[in-house]
Amino acid sequence: MSARAGVVYLVGAGPGDPGLVTMRAMELIGSADVIVHDRLIPDGLLDAARGDAELVDVGKRPGEGSVAGERLRSEDAQRAIEDLIADRARGGRSVVRLKGGDPFVFGRGGEEADALRAAGVDFEVVPGVTAGVAGPAYAGIPVTHREDASAVAFVTGHEDPGKEDSALDWDALARFPGTLVIYMGVKRLGEIVASLTAAGRDPAEPAAAVERGTLPGQRTVEAKLGDLPAAAEAAGLRAPAVVVIGPVAARRETIAWLEQRPLHGRRVVVTRARAQASGMARTLSALGAEVIELPAIRIEPRIESGEVRRAVDEIHTYALVCLTSPNGVRLLFDALAAAGRDARSLANATVAAIGPGTASALRERGVIADIVPERSIAEALVEALAEVDVFERPVLVARAAEARDVLPDALRDRGARVDVVALYETVAEDPDPAAIEAARDADYVTFTSSSTVRNLMDSVGNGLPGHARVVSIGPITSETAREAGLEVHVEAARHDPEGLVEALLADADRGAGRT
Ligand code: SAH
Repeated sequence: MSARAGVVYLVGAGPGDPGLVTMRAMELIGSADVIVHDRLIPDGLLDAARGDAELVDVGKRPGEGSVAGERLRSEDAQRAIEDLIADRARGGRSVVRLKGGDPFVFGRGGEEADALRAAGVDFEVVPGVTAGVAGPAYAGIPVTHREDASAVAFVTGHEDPGKEDSALDWDALARFPGTLVIYMGVKRLGEIVASLTAAGRDPAEPAAAVERGTLPGQRTVEAKLGDLPAAAEAAGLRAPAVVVIGPVAARRETIAWLEQRPLHGRRVVVTRARAQASGMARTLSALGAEVIELPAIRIEPRIESGEVRRAVDEIHTYALVCLTSPNGVRLLFDALAAAGRDARSLANATVAAIGPGTASALRERGVIADIVPERSIAEALVEALAEVDVFERPVLVARAAEARDVLPDALRDRGARVDVVALYETVAEDPDPAAIEAARDADYVTFTSSSTVRNLMDSVGNGLPGHARVVSIGPITSETAREAGLEVHVEAARHDPEGLVEALLADADRGAGRT
């Protein structure tokens, strides 16, 4: 059910990997009027918010609230957040209060719930995957294990262990018969370990610190408890990190899995248009790659143009309709819908798709393509169309404005009456400076079309692709890359995004691209 007016939802956003956000959280983020969020929430999560939603960032910088003077300010800030969410809900809006991990685990969610109750505002709680379980899990450390630990304690490392009135009993924690998971402990790691070992915890006990758990670039430092502070310091360990103390930490030796994924530790740049990139980016991340989205192009629809409107009005008269990309399919159907039409307008035509991706976009809209070459390239489509009688027949080629003329030329040579209409144009996208910076260290740069090559080289040029290996989707893109002075290291055998990922994987498997 979507977010209800007048209600505040205390929602956990999980530890960082967007895949660990619950379905309930997604549903609420997508429907709330107001989203009040912390700093540590998964990248891109707020893209799911409604366009007209009010987004309020109340994130604190790390370290704030950790010393006496600032603590006061942080208490004030906390009250201000409580007032804000109560106020928006009382005004009749639905409010999502989005927090990293789980809202009730060191998230001050309990305080916010109390404040809402006191203010007479309805609330609901949506638990999230907490960093103290997920971070270790991604590092191959189960926080409980039948042989090693039958209990687990979540501990805040935020407090000064030397403090007289500490809420934590470090002596008791030293004796705790199970795993200790310490949140917010990076800064005071030395003092924490000293207190625990002074109180009798074995300095030789296995321990680990997991930095940026579940996020790209997750790192784990393992050491004996007594050595962990020095090891963390030597590794330059920084927040956010969780510290795991107990025999389970040694299980990582056999259970570590993240590092085993085929693209682990590889940084891959994706230059496709933002709307299309995410599918490929997800596939690459699932294989362990750190993905930098650096869209070089953007799709500008042209379905309002006179030529597209005319083609749509006449669509039922074409004997053959050729589509040359999934974007083209999407936009042709948008144009049809705008004219009050649907797939039935294609009932009498032979429908040709340039490759499996385009065919699958058609299938999603209820049309099974008659002609689909395996290789997504104009020359292959020309070949596949050899059997179709086009002599003196009307043919529609619906495509990108800047596409090559191989297909229409070949059809015209065979006597077809060809209309070429541009459903969209690919234009240069302004590159994000942070993404460019990240891309400079990449192991791979991927190009899925000539336009991604041209626009990336125009807008970024110097320094890219650096020492990265260049992966191209097919011969045309490779040619453009070579013309732009790039060496192409990998060319996909199947000219679609899946084929490109396959080729990249094979290259990485051979040990290439390792830096
Ligand atoms: N409510 C959150 C915890 C907030 S306290 C939860 O349930 O996870 C903030 C602390 O959480 C950080 O100092 C760090 O110890 C831990 N943390 C949050 N995200 C983390 C991550 N991705 N990797 C490791 N630790 C993380």
